[in-house]
Amino acid sequence: MALLINENCTSCDACVPVCPNTAISAGDVIYVIDAARCTECIGAHDSPQCQLVCPADCIVQDPNNAESKAQLEAKYKALHG
Ligand code: SF4
Ligand code: SF4
Repeated sequence: MALLINENCTSCDACVPVCPNTAISAGDVIYVIDAARCTECIGAHDSPQCQLVCPADCIVQDPNNAESKAQLEAKYKALHG
């Protein structure tokens, strides 16, 4: 399951450099996660790094992008070839 950033985002930019998949970018109002690139950090880390550094606690599970651990592992492999 990819993660998403909710409206509590303060656009502080802390999450961008810690993402191993370059999945996070500044959107029109708040920062956004590209669901096609987010693996919940599976493949790179034990836990989602963006959630660890976010001071606003605004990064949550995206129920519209449900994926199994195996799918997330495959996504990571595809991204990093
Ligand atoms: Fe990037 Fe990991 Fe956050 Fe997904 S959970 S956006 S891969 S840092
Ligand atoms: Fe927004 Fe949190 Fe990322 Fe800062 S770390 S830009 S508050 S999602």
